[in-house]
Amino acid sequence: MANIYRWQAPGNGKIFDKSLGESSYMNSRTIAVLKYIGQKVKVSQSEFEREIKTYLKNNTEYLENNSTPAHFFRPLLFLGFLKISTSKILELTLEGDKFLHFYEKAEYLKCKKYILNQLDNSTYPNIATKDIRLQLFPFRILFKLLLREGEKGLTKEFIREKLVYLREYDDLALYEKYQDIEKIAKKDEYDKFYSWVINSLVNIEILKSKKGSYFIADDMLEDVEGLYKNLSFESLFFNDETLLCQLDTKTAQERYKRDSRLILEAKVRDDFTCQIDKKHKTFISKGVNYVEGHHVVPMFQQKNYSFNLDDVENITSLCPTCHREIHSGDDKELILNKLYNLNLAFMFTNGISQEDLYKMYYCR
Ligand SMILES: [Zn+2]
Ligand SMILES: [Zn+2]
Repeated sequence: MANIYRWQAPGNGKIFDKSLGESSYMNSRTIAVLKYIGQKVKVSQSEFEREIKTYLKNNTEYLENNSTPAHFFRPLLFLGFLKISTSKILELTLEGDKFLHFYEKAEYLKCKKYILNQLDNSTYPNIATKDIRLQLFPFRILFKLLLREGEKGLTKEFIREKLVYLREYDDLALYEKYQDIEKIAKKDEYDKFYSWVINSLVNIEILKSKKGSYFIADDMLEDVEGLYKNLSFESLFFNDETLLCQLDTKTAQERYKRDSRLILEAKVRDDFTCQIDKKHKTFISKGVNYVEGHHVVPMFQQKNYSFNLDDVENITSLCPTCHREIHSGDDKELILNKLYNLNLAFMFTNGISQEDLYKMYYCR
């Protein structure tokens, strides 16, 4: 089963099969899995597989069947509401945690926005699917095309027969050039991405369908525009999976304008010293000790928050070594604790916990 060049669906079946908040088989199952893992905080995959069916039986309308327990968490990995470590420990992500919180408060519009924002980060290859030889962000492509096509929408046939075979930037470059969606590649039909993923999005009203075509739901349009209007076609693809975290930064740069004066303001405030340790020596540049401005709550998190992250209170000065460590270090907890404590007022005002901050710096 090597070398699959088409978009796959995770697990078995839909992620949601009714509007959020309505009770239905898949809605109950998906939410129950989140709750189970949330209560455990961390749980090994083997413990999950031993216990989940009993948990579902006791807490939902679940009927015993022989589906593989791994299928119960895979859709949530695909959405990025869960993460799994190399030692197979399952845990909610920051977004999974917030999603569940708002779901329990019946704030379903917020929940939809979390799903939209999470889809934005989904890639192929994806930890929830297998053997895919693609390097792209499927939902960035889907939503960018839906936005471009506007009133025309995308047809079911297009999604089944062409979109899921879209492999590279050149396919979209042709579309850019000719504005003709039919020029986008490929061949036969493959149903699962369409029938599970797309239809789940229709069920929860992120997409709407009319006469066999698909459109962005009205209450999502503004958010989709915010995410994709200024995003280049290049940002829909990547070359190296190890660069995913940096790519988030690159995308955030395209999306959210930054005020470079704020960085200078922060450096002046910090007296051009590294805020992890003022004694960190660098070199003289433009007459002052060289430091770099860093957004403590990363700019790629802007889509999840309504307050402005490009705020001098959220910017700190770091020497190049500390800055590298924050972005690439294996064990970031110590350095993140220091950063958190530097910005306590900002963190409290905006309801960000230390645990939230760790989760923001987690790199898949
Ligand atoms: Zn930085
Ligand atoms: Zn430093």
